[in-house]
Amino acid sequence: MCAVFARIVMEPRLFLRFILAATSLNTIHAQQSLLDSLMGLIRGGLQDPEGIPYDTRVFKTEYDFIVVGAGSGGSVVANRLTEVPGWSVLLLEAGGDENFVTDIPLMASYAQLLGINWGYRTEPDENYCRGMVGKRCRWPRGKVMGGTSVINYMVYTRGNRRDYDLWEELGNNGWGYKSVLPYFLKSEDIGIPELMNSSYHSSGGYLNVQEAPWRTPLAPAFLEAGQELGYEVRDPSSESQLGFSYVHATVRNGSRCSASKAFLRTIRNRPNLHIAKKARVTKVLINSKTNEAFGVQFVKNRCTHIVRAKKEIILSAGVFNSAQLLMLSGVGPRQHLEELGIPVIKDLKVGYNLQDHVSMAALAFLINDSVSLIEGRLLSNLSYGLDYIINRNGPLTIPGGAEGIAFIQTKYINGSQPEDPDYGWPDLEIVYGPGALTGDTVGSLRTGLGITEKVFRQVFGPVAGRDAYGLVPIILRPRSRGRMKLRSKDPFHAPLLYANYFEDVHDLHVLVEGVKYVSIFAYMCAYFEKGTEQGFRFL
Ligand SMILES: Cc1cc2nc3c(=O)[nH]c(=O)nc-3n(C[C@H](O)[C@H](O)[C@H](O)COP(=O)(O)OP(=O)(O)OC[C@H]3O[C@@H](n4cnc5c(N)ncnc54)[C@H](O)[C@@H]3O)c2cc1C
Repeated sequence: MCAVFARIVMEPRLFLRFILAATSLNTIHAQQSLLDSLMGLIRGGLQDPEGIPYDTRVFKTEYDFIVVGAGSGGSVVANRLTEVPGWSVLLLEAGGDENFVTDIPLMASYAQLLGINWGYRTEPDENYCRGMVGKRCRWPRGKVMGGTSVINYMVYTRGNRRDYDLWEELGNNGWGYKSVLPYFLKSEDIGIPELMNSSYHSSGGYLNVQEAPWRTPLAPAFLEAGQELGYEVRDPSSESQLGFSYVHATVRNGSRCSASKAFLRTIRNRPNLHIAKKARVTKVLINSKTNEAFGVQFVKNRCTHIVRAKKEIILSAGVFNSAQLLMLSGVGPRQHLEELGIPVIKDLKVGYNLQDHVSMAALAFLINDSVSLIEGRLLSNLSYGLDYIINRNGPLTIPGGAEGIAFIQTKYINGSQPEDPDYGWPDLEIVYGPGALTGDTVGSLRTGLGITEKVFRQVFGPVAGRDAYGLVPIILRPRSRGRMKLRSKDPFHAPLLYANYFEDVHDLHVLVEGVKYVSIFAYMCAYFEKGTEQGFRFL
């Protein structure tokens, strides 16, 4: 009964059904219908592919495989390994379950403010992140079943074929585009009608890829403007990435389809899969003589457990935590580990080569029509909430506030013609959203991003609350390299993160090209021409 009630509270549509049923208790017929509803809920709860995975509290001493982290990577790995009935798998996740807010596509930035974010920040630096609180950029990572796929913007983008081929050329056999494409297809359940017959998409996989069911009138204008600039409107997952498109997103019927929803909830009844939530791995146990990992140590409910793996341990704890665990376990740069008193098992450059696709999120373009996403307007309009709850439709279904994306090449790419070697290998992505920081009237967006009040007031103060759209240029292949180090040998201490943005000035040049590009773009096409004006000031 507790579980049924919990599910009613978690699922507003069921809550409505429950209330409707409860108000008609005065007739036997109504009592019967309430009973039917409850039975439906119980049955649904047992079979529902959306039902949350069970939490294992009693562990075997040994599993065939141990997977650390139930994020985008770990969820898929646990799913595929347990397809083999004879293999037992333990999946350990530091966070708990997703919730109703994280399901709402437009609330992605808010989801990052909940307690399901590891809350990492870069170390202060004079050369970048200067408009951020404490000169530190926020680097959100999900600490929850589904990992960062629960707080991200849900944009379904595959890597460029050229990048995969380069990985293979570097000696990573099996990572070329031709080899990875079948796995994208195997995972996918495409729900975009015009792509149903494309050889680059497929149906029946676990991961739903759909478009938002609702759009602002600005969205078609974004595509039109792209065409006026000579780009094609095309599916970025197809033959070429270059061009403009509506956002394809990992959403299922208007709600977020996280990795956990896609790959774990659907298989939660497999007997060979044990999932432990709020289980924090603190060390990978490695035999120092054979250099072989044989188990993990983790903490759950304040108890320390040790579990062994017969075959393999898969470290899928995310970009920072995987590296942190390796170093805590003795795999990392000798000098750094010795400084912290960690016995070195293997001297490796773990924590180096950190890359982030730095972007410019402050470019706002004012419009005269009241059609964009303004925080106050969204919060005060009850019909938007009801439309989402009842129909899974309306503005709340826009994934992370993004309606369109474009992949373009700046002048730094040697490939302006299709016959050029680097043609089709864009160095810049542009994300278009029917809202901007001008609409951040309540302040959650700037809080999430970590922008100081002073900078916000200086840049957007005079136009705060005005309708605007945003164009965000993002560099795709940064040349600057950051570094991650351990703060201490305590596994519960957050690592030290050094972004080193713009250390290689090429990155700055590409981003400036992006700013120039969107400034031209913003005035293209009939719709934008009629009333766009710049809604930000350069400091
Ligand atoms: C703000 C933001 C927006 C993004 N938007 C997009 C987008 O629109 N489209 C896109 O394709 N990508 C996007 N990304 C990137 C994408 O979400 C990540 O690349 C992807 O989710 C990473 O997957 P992962 O499995 O490597 O790590 P994660 O998904 O982060 O999973 C790691 C998991 O390991 C768990 N874990 C960590 N340490 C431990 C431990 N010691 N013990 C047990 N468990 C542990 C974590 O809690 C987490 O659940 C975005 C990222 C961010 C931060």
